[in-house]
This record gives sequence, structure tokens and C-alpha cells, in this order.
Amino acid sequence: MILDKHNRNHNYLRISLTEKCNLRCEYCMPAEGIPLLPAAKLMQANEVFAIAKTFVEMGVNKIRLTGGEPLVRKDFNAILRSLATLPVELAISTNGVLVDKHLAVFKESGLQKINLSLDSLQPEKFAQITRRNDFKKVTENLELLLHQGFHVKINVVLMRGFNDDEIIDFINFTKTRNVAVRFIEFMPFDGNAWNREKMVPLAEILETAKTAFGENLIALKNHKNDTAKNFKIAGYAGTWGVISTVTSPFCSGCNRLRLTADGKIKNCLFSNQEMDLLSALRENKPLENLIKTAVWGKHAIRAGMDSPEKFQDESLNQDNRSMIAIGG
Ligand code: SAM
Ligand code: SF4
Ligand code: SF4
Repeated sequence: MILDKHNRNHNYLRISLTEKCNLRCEYCMPAEGIPLLPAAKLMQANEVFAIAKTFVEMGVNKIRLTGGEPLVRKDFNAILRSLATLPVELAISTNGVLVDKHLAVFKESGLQKINLSLDSLQPEKFAQITRRNDFKKVTENLELLLHQGFHVKINVVLMRGFNDDEIIDFINFTKTRNVAVRFIEFMPFDGNAWNREKMVPLAEILETAKTAFGENLIALKNHKNDTAKNFKIAGYAGTWGVISTVTSPFCSGCNRLRLTADGKIKNCLFSNQEMDLLSALRENKPLENLIKTAVWGKHAIRAGMDSPEKFQDESLNQDNRSMIAIGG
């Protein structure tokens, strides 16, 4: 068990495989880009495996690959195949652009859970937010995944005045498709020009859904580790939910740890205190105590930003990596 001092067990590891991406989502990547780390500082495929194996031996039973865009890594297939030899459930977060080229290795490795980012159902808006023209590819790949029976969640970062008028369209997307749509409250990270007004809160999303669906809106029972508050519309095939990290954090059931592409453990999405596991591995030092120490120091809520005031304080919330360098 990897426990923290709040008695939370951490059995879920999110590994960022790269800081690179083939999209440029405004809320994730600063307009000027980020300085990329030299390749020598990044985990090689065998190092990803070695560090992951240590976590699994300590009690991790679920690993999600993320980034940046994990599928742009040339050795992605080799990494996935090696992780598939560990006794863990595998999952991935992807923007979907390269999914069709990886279906075979997903199946071979038993990877069924796929979170796919899609912030608009309108091609022009997709191009605007991602600064790329891949709407057709992403939506075709989404349908392909659903058709082939993968468990798909669609991540939608809501931004006021941009895609908040698509809440009902996204919920209706679940009418005939067995998919889970998750609206994510826009969060502050280094260089993403966050302000509270741009964020669409859980309460407002719920109000919009209640007005549209009335009695047909059903609240679903949540599991303690759930990041989303989940709902469905009576008679619809899929479900939808809200990840309300800003207005209603769900830290009490947090079971998540993050490993950055340069091999640093982050005990919380918002923590800027990192422990360098990759250097330790390269120096043949044991990792277990470093991991235990990093997790023990975890704050109860959002790396100590436990009030709305602290969360909105730029000196606290921007003192972190940009999301693309964390691995969301
Ligand atoms: N490239 C992959 C993707 O887009 O799914 C994986 C990495 S991405 C950083 C992981 C998730 O973080 C995506 O769903 C993305 O929408 C979300 N994300 C990025 N920046 C965010 C922000 N400022 N607020 C909320 N969610 C954010
Ligand atoms: Fe790339 Fe994902 Fe960030 Fe978009 S959200 S820029 S797809 S890493
Ligand atoms: Fe866990 Fe930090 Fe996210 Fe809270 S903000 S759920 S503690 S990772």
C-alpha cells in the first residue's frame, strides 16, 4: 500500500510519456510553446518499465498513459507491450488523432479504457481551440473505438463563451452511443491565462441540464475514487459527468499519483514539489523510500490550495508546470 498521512491508498499511477503533442490546445499549452527537455533527460522505454514495475510491486494496480500526446512517442508500442506484462489495468488519455494506427496494439495489450479529448462537436471550433485541423480524424477515430467496443470517455474542457453552448449537444451525443462524456472545469496552470470567469462551474452545468431534461435527469451513484459527479438521461445509452476540481474538489478519495516524462513523481496535479525517481534509478538507488516520502507529504486538498481564495492566487496556482508537461 502506498499511503499518505491522510490514510489514502494510492493504487493508480498516471505516466506521462512525452511533453510533445500534435495539437496545441489553448488551455493546455502556452501559445509560445514550452521549452522541451533534452531527450537524455526523458525516461527511456526500459526506464518507464522499471519505474512502473516498482510502483506495481508497492501496490499500484492501474496505470494510465498520458502526456503531452502519448501516441506521438515512436516507441509507444514497445512501452505498452512491456507494461502489459505487469499485473495492472491499462488505460490511456489521448487526443485521438493517431488512435486508428494503434488499435491492434491496444487490443493485444488488453488496453480497453480510453479517455479521448474533444472540446467541440463543431469543426471550426475544434480547429480554433486545438490550432490544428484534425476534427474529422478525431471524430472518425472516436466512432471506430465505440464500434470496436472500447470503453471510451470523452473529456470536454468547458470555457465560457467558447463551448458552453454545446453542453446539451454533448449530452445528446450520449443518446445512442455507449460513451461517458465528462465536462471538466477549466483549471489554472503555468501560462494558460486562467481566470475564474472563463471557467464554467458544476452548478451551472447542472442547471443547464436540469432545464433541458427535467425529470429525465438521473444522478448516478459515485464510487469513492471517482473524479466525476456522474449523471445520465433516462433512456440514453451513455452517461455524462462533471470533473469539478475547481468548485468542488474530490480530493478525499484521491488515489492518484503522477510520473512526469522526465521521471519525477508528483503527488498531486497541483503540487510543484517533485521527487526525481529517474536520477535515482540511473544511480542504481532504490526507489521505494523516495516514493513513500513523496506520497506521505501529500496535502489533503489540491496541494494545499484548500480554499477558493488560495486556488485563485496566481502566486500559488501558476507556480506549477503547464498541463502539457504534467500529464493531465
Ligand atoms: N493529449 C492527451 C489528451 O488531450 O487527452 C493527454 C494529455 S492532456 C494534458 C489530459 C487531459 O487534460 C485532457 O483531457 C485535457 O483536456 C485536460 N486538460 C489540459 N489542460 C487543462 C486545463 N487547463 N483545465 C482542465 N483540463 C485540462
Ligand atoms: Fe495536446 Fe492533450 Fe494538451 Fe491538447 S490537451 S495540447 S491534445 S496534451
Ligand atoms: Fe488528488 Fe490533487 Fe487531484 Fe485532489 S487535486 S484529486 S489531491 S491529484
